[in-house]
Amino acid sequence: MIPNTPGGIDTGFRAALQRLQAAGRLRWYEGAADPEFEIAGIMKKIDGGPALLFPEVKGHAMPVLGNFLASRENCEAAFATDYRGIRAMIGRAFGHPLPPEIVAEAPVHENVHTTFDLGVQLPILRHGDGDAGRFITAGIVVAQDPETGVYNASYHRLQLIGPQRTAIKLDFGRHLRQAFERAQRMGKPLPIAVCIGTDLAVYYTAATMGALMPEGADEFAIAGRLAGRPIAMVKARSQDLLYPAETEIVIEGVLRPAETVREGPFGEFVGYLSPEGEAPVFEASALCHRHRPLYHAINGVGRETVMLRKYVLEASLLSALQAAVPIVRDVEMTAGGLHRFHAVLSVRKDSEAHEGFQRNAILAAFATLKDLDLVIAVDDDIDIRDPLDVEYALAMRMEGSRDLFVVPGARAHEYVRVSDNGRRAKVGIDATVPFAERDRFRRAPFREVTTSLDRFGTKAKSALPWLD
Ligand code: MN
Repeated sequence: MIPNTPGGIDTGFRAALQRLQAAGRLRWYEGAADPEFEIAGIMKKIDGGPALLFPEVKGHAMPVLGNFLASRENCEAAFATDYRGIRAMIGRAFGHPLPPEIVAEAPVHENVHTTFDLGVQLPILRHGDGDAGRFITAGIVVAQDPETGVYNASYHRLQLIGPQRTAIKLDFGRHLRQAFERAQRMGKPLPIAVCIGTDLAVYYTAATMGALMPEGADEFAIAGRLAGRPIAMVKARSQDLLYPAETEIVIEGVLRPAETVREGPFGEFVGYLSPEGEAPVFEASALCHRHRPLYHAINGVGRETVMLRKYVLEASLLSALQAAVPIVRDVEMTAGGLHRFHAVLSVRKDSEAHEGFQRNAILAAFATLKDLDLVIAVDDDIDIRDPLDVEYALAMRMEGSRDLFVVPGARAHEYVRVSDNGRRAKVGIDATVPFAERDRFRRAPFREVTTSLDRFGTKAKSALPWLD
């Protein structure tokens, strides 16, 4: 496997972690940490900072990794480029598959167990007080559609219910759900592999949904283009299925066609506990892992859950908007909107003929990503990554009676509780300055200087002895 991404980096899990370590973005916890509430609590408390490694986990042999790709700085260190570079890599990969290659030997098969106890061998966390139990949260589920043969990779949480059994949450409309329902109609179990700790490119393509990754698209082929080399896939040991060879931990098994169990509650990305409900059963047939594996855990309510989709969604939004509305320069899906529900568009009007396109861009954004509920357009003198500057644009350039528009009853995300079963108004805000009036809104200029706070001390020298 020769690493040759556009940035010349190896996107493998361990290579990415080594880069985090070298960049000072990986912090090691001193002493033993408890997988019951404590580790998740620490991850929550210092969320959005460096990645956290818990080398010593009470009752377990495997270390736990938390908050891995939970901040922009971590993602930039992991990909060895800035966020624009990450988005460009993703933008180049979509629609340009590079099929995986099948290999005979795999690091993940250094240890293969056919008798095992998931709850003992894996440091599966209990995250929050409202959760129903212990959940595997960073598992990328690999499956092959039983009718089309197309491979799918997607995140699904798994609730531990026995030594070799979990419940699995399968939301409607997801490709894995569709494959599972086809297998159900055939009366057959659906083979799956739950992959924990794998290639960064797979982390990102597994986070895609909807039109971004149509059902006929193979996430591993898009991941191959993103990685800049074919993803190496190996045959499962106990099922007829392929999965990434360079994975820390893989649980092989099947989804039972005609069995459900109670699943949840669990704290989800929208910040609430999901309601308890019926869910399909995953029956594990083998546990495979590398030597000295690392177990990755993600808090459902946490920065990493939403950061895993941020750059993928922004890349798709930016490319769709720039194709449709030429005045769009940049987009930011903001942290407060969970990188999913709110977007700020940076536009540049170069002539009177561009006036109005900012509103077309807002409408195009809603059409591109159905979960967007609030889209703000600002001029390109506003820093869309600075929430204060965006609010300044609202304060100084938006006239609510004219620049705010509402489209009621549109399709949104069904987890948004204020929505009517996933139908919700879309709010557009045009906080741009009319092209004809741009001179009146020009921000007061200052001279460019290079001085920083480092040029200042804390003591008066001689001019003001009374202040010494
Ligand atoms: Mn898919």
